[in-house]
Amino acid sequence: MYKVTKELRFCYGHRLLNYQGICMHPHGHNSKVEVELTLSSLDERHMVVDFGEIKGTIQGWIDEKIDHKMVLHKDDPLVKVLGELHEPMFLLNTNPTAESLARLIYEFAASKGFPVSEVRLWEGFTSYASYSQSKHEVAGEAVAYSKP
Ligand SMILES: [Zn+2]
Repeated sequence: MYKVTKELRFCYGHRLLNYQGICMHPHGHNSKVEVELTLSSLDERHMVVDFGEIKGTIQGWIDEKIDHKMVLHKDDPLVKVLGELHEPMFLLNTNPTAESLARLIYEFAASKGFPVSEVRLWEGFTSYASYSQSKHEVAGEAVAYSKP
């Protein structure tokens, strides 16, 4: 199998619901994302995917939708308050954990036809969450509340 991994970066704010700890309060992260793509055969350019295409499409979407936004559960009471102040948000059907963000980016990459095999989301220097999917797995409801 051939694999390529592109590193992308963005900043986001969030808070976690039903959670006791410092992440229950609004705060932000400087995040690094590793998007891993896998194919068994190369294209006519002898590439899995051109790194520039990954950056253009996925970093472009992240910059527009998530970068410097508050990423919140759609039922978070903050949504009403920030909405009234016209603050930018990105809403999820799930708690906005690193795991949920990894899956969000995975689902976006897959929806654009990238042969994504894993997304790792670093929430700082020492911790990352990853998401991948087997062909037989049913993932259930998409993590993004507002569709990409
Ligand atoms: Zn956090």
